[in-house]
Amino acid sequence: MVRTRFAPSPTGYLHIGGVRTALFNWLFARHHGGQFILRIDDTDQGRNQPEALQPILDGFRWLGIDWDEGAEIGGPHGPYYQSERLDRYQAAVKTLLDKGLAYRDYATADELKAEREAAEKEKRPFLSSRRWMAEAATDRARWEAEGRKAVVRLKMPREGTCRFHDLIRGDMAVEWIQEADHVIQRTDGSCLYNLANVVDDFDMHITHVIRAEEHLSNTPRQIFIAQGLGYELPEYAHVPFVAEPGSKNKLSKRKLAQYLKNPDFRSAYEHGQAIAAAVGLKTHADTFNPVIVDFYREVGYLPDAIVNYLLLLGWSLDDKTEFFTRQEMIAHFSLERVNKGAASFDVKKLRAFQERYMSLESIERKTELVLPFLCKAKLIADPPLAEERARVTEIVRAAGERIKVAGDILDYAAFFQSDDRVVYDEKALHQHIRKPEAAALLCKLRELLATATFETKALEELVQSFATTEGVKLGAINQPLRVAVTGKAIGFGTYETLALLGRERCLARIDRVLTRV
Ligand code: GLU
Repeated sequence: MVRTRFAPSPTGYLHIGGVRTALFNWLFARHHGGQFILRIDDTDQGRNQPEALQPILDGFRWLGIDWDEGAEIGGPHGPYYQSERLDRYQAAVKTLLDKGLAYRDYATADELKAEREAAEKEKRPFLSSRRWMAEAATDRARWEAEGRKAVVRLKMPREGTCRFHDLIRGDMAVEWIQEADHVIQRTDGSCLYNLANVVDDFDMHITHVIRAEEHLSNTPRQIFIAQGLGYELPEYAHVPFVAEPGSKNKLSKRKLAQYLKNPDFRSAYEHGQAIAAAVGLKTHADTFNPVIVDFYREVGYLPDAIVNYLLLLGWSLDDKTEFFTRQEMIAHFSLERVNKGAASFDVKKLRAFQERYMSLESIERKTELVLPFLCKAKLIADPPLAEERARVTEIVRAAGERIKVAGDILDYAAFFQSDDRVVYDEKALHQHIRKPEAAALLCKLRELLATATFETKALEELVQSFATTEGVKLGAINQPLRVAVTGKAIGFGTYETLALLGRERCLARIDRVLTRV
């Protein structure tokens, strides 16, 4: 039985790179009919807060990456929160101490620092002198009498080679001498990641450790621990990290300012900000930016588009297939086809996936997707009334492919605003209406509209013949008209817009804008 896991720390947000690693774990487990475990790496007690975990769990649920055991749901191999597993870790530390594979180290921070600096000065690699190592009870008593406290360190081998096979990177070999005596238990008795992780993987029967490549360097010491505890080793697969736009460096949420210099990244960010502002969402750059999954949910992306994009960020079936249903992903996924090199995060490509997935949605489904945005923006009731729903469907149909993410419905806010609440884009107003000739034309046309049939074709003929009679280009009246009724110079067809709004509302809006200018 294949069992994989993802072990996020409760940091308050779900990073794109983390999801990609989790996705590979999930797909691998599903492909083999195995299980996927979501365990919480909260050994760092300070961060162990429910509100820091919730966005991560919500993010996975939204993406449809479900887990068979772990956070919130439990299971037969729990607890799944590292903060609740201290007794297991301490028992493991004791075993390692008893076997002489770990030792208590009574060195103070200053003593360690001095050793490290001496090594630096003499230009030799630092290796603990083990001068404050206490293995016998008498030594311990002596150090403790001095008021010293011990951490527990691994007593790493100083000769030979650690060899292991990585399913993505192939055969690995690391000289043991390069491994420091890592701390596995602090002076207060709490345990560290390298130890906790190995114990958890064993207790939870993890068969395949699929994780970010930054943990490749942790693997020899983890193998040392696992072998010391008599555990059978899992298979390892280290996935290259997701690189930032246009470089090979690891994608980080802290470099937002730098990424905003990338035009695609910037436009995605600004688009998201505009939607957030329209729905009154308070945003913070740490959690609301295109490196974080929540951003896409708030903006109205489709989970399937994101998952499909992330699948191809470091994995491919061949050089042509791009679109995969979940079933196809599960059927085809294999670790052999994971790339060895880092893949660069490309917001534009993600957006292309989104557009494609959105274009496949039915009008009904799109309506469901956009309704929450209109509710949050207080443009319709919450929950929506039946007639509002019908109206939204009409607008969604008319907007067609223009709605690329669900939040784009807010571009059509004018259809839901009351006539005295239409928000005018200043630039559009200036360009198209604040000109004597435009206002005069609009005034004249208003008289014709008062008795016109409000139907797309009829309106089109009316405005065209009006332009001919007045001897002006169609755009000279068409654009002012659009701005007058929607507040914006963009949107779908002017005549369709007029027809959808109806005579009364159009006339009220034209009157209002004429008074204003
Ligand atoms: N909490 C660790 C991380 O997110 C887990 C590492 C591991 O998978 O071993 O990096």
